[in-house]
Amino acid sequence: MTTVTNLGFPRMGARRELKQALEAYWRDETQRAPLLDTAGQLRERHWKMQREAGAHVVPCNDFSLYDHVLDTAWLFDAIPERYRALADADPLAGYFAMARGTQRAGVDLHALEMTKWFDTNYHYIVPELHAGQAFRLRGDKPVQEFLEARAQGHEARPVLLGPVSFLLLSKTSDGSDRLALLDRLLPAYAELLGKLHDAGAEWVQLDEPCLVLDLDHEDAAAYRSAYAALAGTTRPKLLLATYFGALGDNLPLAQELPVDGLHIDLVRAPAQLDAVLGSLPADRVLSLGVVDGRNVWRADLDRAMAITRVAIERLGRQRVWLAPSCSLLHVPLDASLEKALPADVHAWLAFARQKLEELRTVADMCKGVVTAYPALEHAREVIAARRASPKVHRLAVAQRLANLDASAAHRRSTYAFRRGKQQQRFQLPLFPTTTIGSFPQTAEVREARARYKSGQWSAAEYDALIAEQTAACVQFQEAIGIDVLVHGEFERNDMVEYFGEQLDGFVFTRHGWVQSYGSRCVKPPIIYGDVQRPAPMTVRWSAYAQALTGRPVKGMLTGPVTVLQWSFVRDDQPRATTCRQLALALRDEVLDLEAAGIRIIQIDEPALREGLPLRRADWAGYLGWAVESFRLAASGVADDTQIHTHMCYSEFNDIIEAVAAMDADVISIETSRSRMELLGAFERFRYPNEIGPGVYDIHSPRVPDVAEMVALLEKAGEVLSPEQLWVNPDCGLKTRGWEETRKALVSLVEAARVMRERM
Ligand code: GLN
Ligand code: ZN
Repeated sequence: MTTVTNLGFPRMGARRELKQALEAYWRDETQRAPLLDTAGQLRERHWKMQREAGAHVVPCNDFSLYDHVLDTAWLFDAIPERYRALADADPLAGYFAMARGTQRAGVDLHALEMTKWFDTNYHYIVPELHAGQAFRLRGDKPVQEFLEARAQGHEARPVLLGPVSFLLLSKTSDGSDRLALLDRLLPAYAELLGKLHDAGAEWVQLDEPCLVLDLDHEDAAAYRSAYAALAGTTRPKLLLATYFGALGDNLPLAQELPVDGLHIDLVRAPAQLDAVLGSLPADRVLSLGVVDGRNVWRADLDRAMAITRVAIERLGRQRVWLAPSCSLLHVPLDASLEKALPADVHAWLAFARQKLEELRTVADMCKGVVTAYPALEHAREVIAARRASPKVHRLAVAQRLANLDASAAHRRSTYAFRRGKQQQRFQLPLFPTTTIGSFPQTAEVREARARYKSGQWSAAEYDALIAEQTAACVQFQEAIGIDVLVHGEFERNDMVEYFGEQLDGFVFTRHGWVQSYGSRCVKPPIIYGDVQRPAPMTVRWSAYAQALTGRPVKGMLTGPVTVLQWSFVRDDQPRATTCRQLALALRDEVLDLEAAGIRIIQIDEPALREGLPLRRADWAGYLGWAVESFRLAASGVADDTQIHTHMCYSEFNDIIEAVAAMDADVISIETSRSRMELLGAFERFRYPNEIGPGVYDIHSPRVPDVAEMVALLEKAGEVLSPEQLWVNPDCGLKTRGWEETRKALVSLVEAARVMRERM
């Protein structure tokens, strides 16, 4: 029999029960039992769901109250000194203090750093280690969850983050070498493996996604010594799990490691199958990741069956397992909960539960179980319908892309020339002031939107409130003397959703939540078809605001790369194509704004950097189409229309060339926390265009004073010329309150005045 296994499952629950329980506990830390009960019920429900969907073996210890990397740090007692007293006194409180900080009972602790898990939108807590760090087994969560699953009648495979990936994903507070800690860490892993063995676990899954990254000699040596050490212990069989890409040049290394099974991602990297089959050591099990754990589409089951048959032919049935490409953590739970989607699009979707059903169909078909045939036939029909759907393929969109000529991605003149034209037109002072777009989204605005969406309010009632808020916002900016105004974005729920809702080719789910970090979930839009803009999206409110003032009002758009990055996208065409379609839709919007008298337009691209592929060799290809897409969106305008972009917080050093190639007239970035450190990249590159380095940290309720902002501008002035500098906050103000925003912006305008006076 071909075994269906799973690598990991969503944690939140169909109604985001874990989120509710976590937040209730955080409000009142005596609510420990309800939180732990909810967690237990979710595990029970999800194991049952996975079994019923078709998994023979379910994962355990993939569940987490916050994050599996934090769990691993906790498990091996990698608890930084400052949290230790609390962790010892109240483990749950200590755990959450590491995750999110705490300010309670005289204890004031910052959270550990958080960063993105590979190229997903999931964020993990970065373990903080130091030279000489001691590790020991603290608690036995993996054993407990294994026993729990078994008591419920499941064959379960404990999931652990592998020791080398764990260290590579960590940082050291003293700058020492993380991998030097391996020898200290391994005994704790070995002890845990022994306990899992004694508890009766037949297999353990060791996740080593770092094996799909560019590795150096030291990393490879760490893999060799780690797995040699673990192989020699009393332990369950080890499944080495790799995902998110091809093993590539690390394939010989992976095959050399003394484990009992290997999982590979055949969705992201189907071409690696032959090489893996050709080099797989005898007796080793191969787990085929044939169903996409990163996207929401029904799989092509014939393709999955073909792969499976090839593997079975080479290895025999006993050595082939079926699985999703990676943990299902990155997709929503259950597509059958969606009741409001168009029927055709709904049929094309497979969320976590449906993906396991697909694997079972493949396994059954490969075994010749005739009862699986109707499911296969249905899947075939659905795939064929999607391929042929006129909602997916719009001839006009394809033709427009095909007929684009190269000049479409270029402004008419060089920046040096445009600059003169723009100066003439806008006559802005040195150190012009502006904001990044949104102003505080008060409870009043959010409630109004909820009333409007639920039908309680008419469009006219809702619009009246938005108009009132916008007018007040414009008036405020004018009164305090900001140079380039914004309309405030009160009409927007979210910077991607707002656009997706107005574009053809998008659908939105009701329950399609995916964990972003901790209790925070996002509901990404789904791009299912060719993207096209039926009507202007933002002109109305921008033009309304512009009509209220003689100062320029900046139009505000979300860029094509960011919309792409924060959505589930089509798997039937390259990402680059979808991105270019988005770019053309935005290009039309830019031109409509310009025609409506909006002559400064900002196209936000905060997600440009996070779209970088995992392997360096793929960067240039990505940056090529990403930058081209931005330019396609931006380049239709006249020389004296000023294009801004905003990129939040990014590491710019290794992408500065691409950022310069975007050729935005003005870029704003987040620099206040790092005290202008990020400007180094712009200085070294001699970045020629204008820059607004943020001088107000909008992630904190703190209000900086004039002197503080002047000091930051002075630092910026050390590396950039005064003619290049704009004065603005780090990012949008939507999460801030009005009180603090008022004070901070008054100071910001004053700081710019101080700087001007010195010139
Ligand atoms: N214009 C957006 C805003 O101000 C930008 C948000 C972002 O950069 N994430 O809200
Ligand atoms: Zn931002």
